Amino acid sequence: MSNDSKSICIIVPVYNEEDVIQEFYKRLIKVLDEQPEYLWHLLFVNDGSEDGTQTIIETFSEADERVSYIGFSRNFGKEVAMTAGLDFADGDAVIVIDADLQDPPELIPELVAGWEQGFDTVFAKRLSREGENWLKRFTATRFYRVIQRVSKVKIPEDTGDYRLLSRRAVNALKRLREQHRFMKGLFAWIGYPAKSISYHRGPRFAGNTKFRFWRLWNFALEGITSFTIAPLKIATYLGISTALFAFLYGAWIIFKTLVFGDQVQGFPTLMVTHLFLGGLQLIFIGIIGEYLGRIFNESKQRPLYLVQTFHPGNMKFQGEIDE
Ligand code: UDP
Ligand code: MG
Repeated sequence: MSNDSKSICIIVPVYNEEDVIQEFYKRLIKVLDEQPEYLWHLLFVNDGSEDGTQTIIETFSEADERVSYIGFSRNFGKEVAMTAGLDFADGDAVIVIDADLQDPPELIPELVAGWEQGFDTVFAKRLSREGENWLKRFTATRFYRVIQRVSKVKIPEDTGDYRLLSRRAVNALKRLREQHRFMKGLFAWIGYPAKSISYHRGPRFAGNTKFRFWRLWNFALEGITSFTIAPLKIATYLGISTALFAFLYGAWIIFKTLVFGDQVQGFPTLMVTHLFLGGLQLIFIGIIGEYLGRIFNESKQRPLYLVQTFHPGNMKFQGEIDE
């Protein structure tokens, strides 16, 4: 292998993946060995797994010096795990991939080919989602429709986090240090030439998804609130139109009283408008609260993650470990 061969780092966020990680490693290595013209590195980001994942990663790293890892002090979530991966990864390009084999490693040569054509981002677009129930599929499509409408940044539909990023794209991403990290949005935000590759997304090889419904709902909320202030704008316009209507209605009541006198009536009308306006106000106070809470979290400026264990293998770590 010559010294000037390009290096690519594969970033794998893992959380309790002891059931799949062996198979994943086997399939991945097979793909990488078919392209010896590149200098490959593997960076596992152990997101505070409570099972045997760490031990398995250590056995990989003992036998293979291309394997490096960092382990968090607790579970920080996949978005943060990917961020840490991007912070520490060295290489002319990086690839982010899930460990559960829903992102087939066999696609890597195609991702790399896209990069060689000059694209900064080469992402994998799913044509199908096997092994996911209709509710998840339905909510996912709805979510992408909504976010597409309201956000200025084009977030590609049916795209996971599986992608290749050039060094310049990684450096751009490293400058985005917000606490509320909706990575799909951040990946799109940086711009630069991007290309998509289609594939069929299979079910998990083993183990269970870490994303239950409530977590997905929060994920969707995060996506919307961190990428657009459209909900706040809706409040403004709804407020203006309600005020306008109230003004006209008030004028009509004054006119009616002056002309026909004041007979007390209209309890139902009173109740309905009262409840309607009260409800509307509470909803929008809630929305303002969502944004306010995010400002609160950002203002604390905490570190995004804490690293507890690390092993650079034969890669030069980009990030800094504080001990
Ligand atoms: N993951 C992680 N931290 C978490 C949850 C998940 O690093 O808190 C990893 C997980 O190990 C896997 C990837 O993120 O490699 C995708 O997770 P999963 O398959 O559960 O998500 P889904 O495919 O159902 O969206
Ligand atoms: Mg999965």
